[in-house]
Amino acid sequence: MLFDEVSTYYEKLENTSSRLGMVDILSEMLSKAKKEEIRNLVYMTQGVLAPPFEGVQMGMAEKFAERSIAMASGFSNEEVVAVYRKTGDMGLTAEEFSKKSKLRIMSKRRLDVNYVFNAMLKIAGTSGLGSQDAKIKMLVELLAASSHLEARYVTRFALGTLRLGAGDATILEALSKMSTGDRESKKKLENAYNICSDLGRIAYILVDNGMSGIEHLKVTLFSPIRPALAERLPTAEEILKRMNGKCAVESKYDGFRVQIHIDKKNRKVQLFSRNLENTTDMFPDIAKAALIEVAAKEAILEGEALAYDDVTGEFRPFQETIQRKRKHGIEEKSLEFPLHLFAFDLMYLDGEDYLSKPYEERRSKLEKLVSGEGTIRFSNRIIATTPKQIDKYFEQEIESGLEGIVAKDLSAPYIAGARKFSWIKLKRSYKGELSDTIDLVIIGYYLGRGQRAEFGFGGLLAAVYNDKKDVFETITRIGTGFTEKNMQMFKSLLKKISKERKPARVDAIIEPNFWVEPKYVVTVRADEITKSPMHTCGREGPSPDATGYALRFPRLVSDGVREDKSPEDATTTKEIIEMYKLQKKVKVES
Ligand code: ATP
Repeated sequence: MLFDEVSTYYEKLENTSSRLGMVDILSEMLSKAKKEEIRNLVYMTQGVLAPPFEGVQMGMAEKFAERSIAMASGFSNEEVVAVYRKTGDMGLTAEEFSKKSKLRIMSKRRLDVNYVFNAMLKIAGTSGLGSQDAKIKMLVELLAASSHLEARYVTRFALGTLRLGAGDATILEALSKMSTGDRESKKKLENAYNICSDLGRIAYILVDNGMSGIEHLKVTLFSPIRPALAERLPTAEEILKRMNGKCAVESKYDGFRVQIHIDKKNRKVQLFSRNLENTTDMFPDIAKAALIEVAAKEAILEGEALAYDDVTGEFRPFQETIQRKRKHGIEEKSLEFPLHLFAFDLMYLDGEDYLSKPYEERRSKLEKLVSGEGTIRFSNRIIATTPKQIDKYFEQEIESGLEGIVAKDLSAPYIAGARKFSWIKLKRSYKGELSDTIDLVIIGYYLGRGQRAEFGFGGLLAAVYNDKKDVFETITRIGTGFTEKNMQMFKSLLKKISKERKPARVDAIIEPNFWVEPKYVVTVRADEITKSPMHTCGREGPSPDATGYALRFPRLVSDGVREDKSPEDATTTKEIIEMYKLQKKVKVES
């Protein structure tokens, strides 16, 4: 498939304002790719060179792209920089210089998908002495062979700023449309995605083997499983009723979720975060312990990593744990607060898929694999048959500084990538506040008034994720909880991803001063969920009388953006509606 054709589809994607429009464009485009191209085309459309969990970085820095554009068109660096200042987009800059190039017909090679993709891989993989010149040379060659429109997307891809706005769910839907497009095929594709998180691989299997290949896809080491998530209920009674009178109750640790993949034969370990980023380098002590302490040849297990003081028995909260994540000082931090992994699940063991086995079986196997006395411990738990037992355990956990509890259905499988009642969380609640914090996606920002306006940042427009429609729906503006330092940080982060128009997957009535690409997640605490005609969260239909949900008195509680959450990991519309009902219930009862 020629890259020229891909570029035309990318331009269409950029110009569509509806998500369904995106699905149509994507499925038409993907159905034109050959079997040996589809994997690369999917990654390219995601703006990556490998599945995102592999963390392969794009290879080009802005100033090298400037030099490449200058060299490919016969203009000076200064001239390129001047146009870039005006457009603010290196892709458009490359396109402009392609149009007025003084060096026509340097190459007549027509670019195709695999050629462009492999050239980018080469650019990314070039390092060491003389690598800058080599990278520039490769990009110049690509630009010289590009049409005007191709130059736009080649440049953006090289810089890692392609941002077509198609989320994973949209790409999955396009793949489903490519096959039969019915609900059944969509479900099967979603299942496959939940156990391997690799859209390129799924697309390849679909083209190569059809739906039967998709159905037979198995858990694979080093391809992370999408995490199981917990529902909420307000009382021990309701939890127990839902669990048919008996369940496990585990401590809910406020740390950092980690999925560990172990291949002992090759002495290979990888750790993945909640949003499936590779975090192996951030937790060297846990990676090391996994190879020594787990008695298995191959395994995938999951737990919560947090700093724990063995002497005082104190747990350190999430914010402190995440500080370790910042690259600097990993060594010092690991000495100051020893990290432990509180393991709570087992998904794969020595060639056998454990996802479909009941929780109790997974847990007892997990306990046989690890002694539980080293860096890897087990999550604390009891088996409860009365609400009193649950309440007592809950109080005791709160007392020791934990967040609450997670109740687990003893007979349920591991339900990858979904929030189900097989896990139910109960957190401590404060008077006059929602018991749970809410994770929101930033979709725009305001200048604010007075001093803030002068500074250039006054607050955020934030949204929840509607996973049924795969869109982001506004729920609140956030104007409090900012420190001077994080205002500065928001300003510079958001400026880089600002958009002239409302992004296609954003559903909003109100307009911020600047739209941004839905990319960053923040955590807020609020007093209450209310109904509002201003917000689109949970709003049925576009009628002016329709109401959505909003947050009352939201304030930022995360220290900046949540690095462990992607936009699709934000609180969902469905959760907000459930929390609204819970809140009403609690009010009536109190
Ligand atoms: P939260 O902000 O409450 O952690 P979340 O959206 O990240 O919510 P949920 O599925 O709602 O995730 O809640 C479960 C989370 O609790 C898991 O993601 C995990 O990080 C954490 N956790 C801590 N202890 C446990 C445990 N024993 N079992 C399962 N999850 C646990």
